[in-house]
Amino acid sequence: MSNLPVEPEFQQAVSEITQTLEPFLAKNPEYRRALEVVQIPERVIQFRVTWEKDDGTLAVNRGFRCQFNSALGPYKGGLRLHPTVNLSILKFLGFEQIFKNALTGLMMGGGKGGSDFDPKGKSDNEIRRFCYAFMQELSRHIGADLDVPAGDIGTGGREIGFMFGAYKKYRNEFAGILTGKGANWGGSNIRPEATGYGVVYYVTEMLKDLDNTDWKGKKVLISGAGNVAQYAALKVLELGGKVLSLSDSTGSLIATTDEGFQAKDITRIAEIKLERKSLTAFVEESSNASGDRFKWYLGERPWKLVEKADIALPSASQNELNGEEAKALQKAGVRYVAEGSNMGCTLDAIEVFENSRKSIKSLTNTEGVVFYAPGKAANAGGVAVSGLEMAQNSQRLKWTPEEVDAKLKDIMKTCYKTCWDTGKEFSEGSALPSLVAGANIAGFIKVANAMRD
Ligand code: GLU
Repeated sequence: MSNLPVEPEFQQAVSEITQTLEPFLAKNPEYRRALEVVQIPERVIQFRVTWEKDDGTLAVNRGFRCQFNSALGPYKGGLRLHPTVNLSILKFLGFEQIFKNALTGLMMGGGKGGSDFDPKGKSDNEIRRFCYAFMQELSRHIGADLDVPAGDIGTGGREIGFMFGAYKKYRNEFAGILTGKGANWGGSNIRPEATGYGVVYYVTEMLKDLDNTDWKGKKVLISGAGNVAQYAALKVLELGGKVLSLSDSTGSLIATTDEGFQAKDITRIAEIKLERKSLTAFVEESSNASGDRFKWYLGERPWKLVEKADIALPSASQNELNGEEAKALQKAGVRYVAEGSNMGCTLDAIEVFENSRKSIKSLTNTEGVVFYAPGKAANAGGVAVSGLEMAQNSQRLKWTPEEVDAKLKDIMKTCYKTCWDTGKEFSEGSALPSLVAGANIAGFIKVANAMRD
C-alpha cells in the first residue's frame, strides 16, 4: 500500500512511460534507477492567490509551480489556468514536458504550473488582478536561467503580458522570464502559431513515410478551438487539407459541406475565444449568416460524428479520446492520429492504435493501420519556439518569421526522425515503428544520461 495521495493523471503518464520503456530497460538495466529518480519532481511550489473581484469582494485560488527536472536546462513549461487544475494534472504535464523538451533537441528542463482559477466569465480587469496576484508569489521562484514559464490552456498572450508586467514591477528587471511574450516586447515571431503548425509539420513526415502522400484533399478532424486547434486548422487549409470539425467543452461543430471550415471561420472563432466565449456564440452567428454549413452537437466530442476521415488531431485537453472513439476513427478510415493536446488519448485508445500497427509486416501492405503520434513529440513545436524565444532574448536579437518557421520545421522533422529511428529499434515484429516507444525511449535516454553525468 502506498502512503502517497492518489494522482490519477500523473500515474497514467508514469505508467505509459514505464510500459514503453520496458524493452529498452530489459536490455539496459542500469537505466532502471534513472526511471525511479525522474518520477520525483525536484521541487513543487504551492501558494495562495488572493485577488479582488470587480464587485470589490475577495476571491482566492490555489497556485502551483512544479519544477520537475533541470538536467537539460532551466525548468520550462506552461501555466494552465483552468478550474480542473490540481497537483496530479500539473505533475503529469510537468513529467511529459521533461521528455517533450528533450525531444526538441534544445537545452531545456521540464516544469509546469498554473492555478484552478477559471478565466471564463471574468472581466479583463479581473484577469489582470489575478495575474498580478499570481505573479507576486511566482516571481520569487522563476528566472531566465532558472525557470521560464509560458502559456497553456487559459494563459494566452494577454495573460503573459499581465504577468510580465507584474514581474517587472515586483523584481525591477527586464529578463526573459516568460515565453509567448508580445511581438513588441521580446516575444518570438511564430510563437502563437508554433504548436499548431508544428503538429502539422510532424504529420507531414508521417504522411510521407506511411503513404508517400501529403495533405492535399485529406479530411481532417480537429478537436478544440483554442490556440493549438486554430493554427493547426489554418496550416491544414494552407497545405490543401479539409478541416471537418472543431470543438470546445460545450460541444462539437461539424462542417456539413465539402469545403469544410474556411480560414475566415477560424479567424472569427479565434475572436470569439479571445472574448472567452464558447463556440455556441459562433453557432448562433453562423446559423443566421450561412445557413447550414455547420451542424452543432451539444456536449459531444467530434470523433464519432463523421463517416469518413483521414486524419485526427486531438487538440483540446488530456483524455479527450477514448478506446471506443479510437475504434470509431479506425472504422471511419482514419490512418493518422497526432496529439496537439498533452496526453489527448487514453491508454485504451493508444492500445487500439498501437495494436493496429503491431501486425504490419511490410510497409507495402498497411491496411487498417492507425499511425499514432503522442503529444510529447507531435506538439513539441510550441515549446521548441519558446526555446528559440529564450535564445533570442539572451542574444537581444529578433529573428524574422521566415527564420523561425524554418527552424521550427527543422526541429519537427528531426524530432520525428528521432522517434522513428528509436522506435524502429524497439518495435520488434512490426515494419512500422512505434512513435510512442520512439518518443519515450529517446527522450528518456537523453534526460537519464544528463542526470547521470
Ligand atoms: N504549454 C505548452 C506545452 O504544453 C508550451 C510550453 C512552453 O512553451 O514552455 O508544451
